[in-house]
Amino acid sequence: MSDLVKTDLRERGEYFKQCYIDNRNEKLEYQNEYNHDNKEKHKEYNRERHAKNKDHIRKQRQEYYEKNKEKILKRGREYYHKNKEKCFSHHYVKQALLSGELKKLPCILCGVLNVEAHHPDYSKPLDVVWLCPTHHRRVHSGAVSLEGNVHG
Ligand SMILES: [Zn+2]
Ligand SMILES: [Zn+2]
Repeated sequence: MSDLVKTDLRERGEYFKQCYIDNRNEKLEYQNEYNHDNKEKHKEYNRERHAKNKDHIRKQRQEYYEKNKEKILKRGREYYHKNKEKCFSHHYVKQALLSGELKKLPCILCGVLNVEAHHPDYSKPLDVVWLCPTHHRRVHSGAVSLEGNVHG
């Protein structure tokens, strides 16, 4: 494990807090998705009962939560885990580039010099593949596969 990965835990916490704020749009998206999941139920509920009855809405939310607790908690954990690793990974890459431990390479698919760090595995923050923005997007959308192109 490199020294970078052993970064002070407090520093990691601070960094994550900042990164979490930076990612609030993603968080909103996640919430929208969640609301969308429940929209139909709310609609039905509102039609049948008094739309502005807050107590009932609260009760219904509580019931939904109780019924889907496992699912909700699992999604929350996955979301947190995914983003935490993503934040740290980008942080490490930035630090490693500054310290010289990591060097940018041309896009492995087309050789363009303007590249971004792609992580095939976020649990290995310094294990990156260099891709131009176009190929980076394509890899994430699934249009391009890195298989056979990744070395090491
Ligand atoms: Zn490329
Ligand atoms: Zn990527």
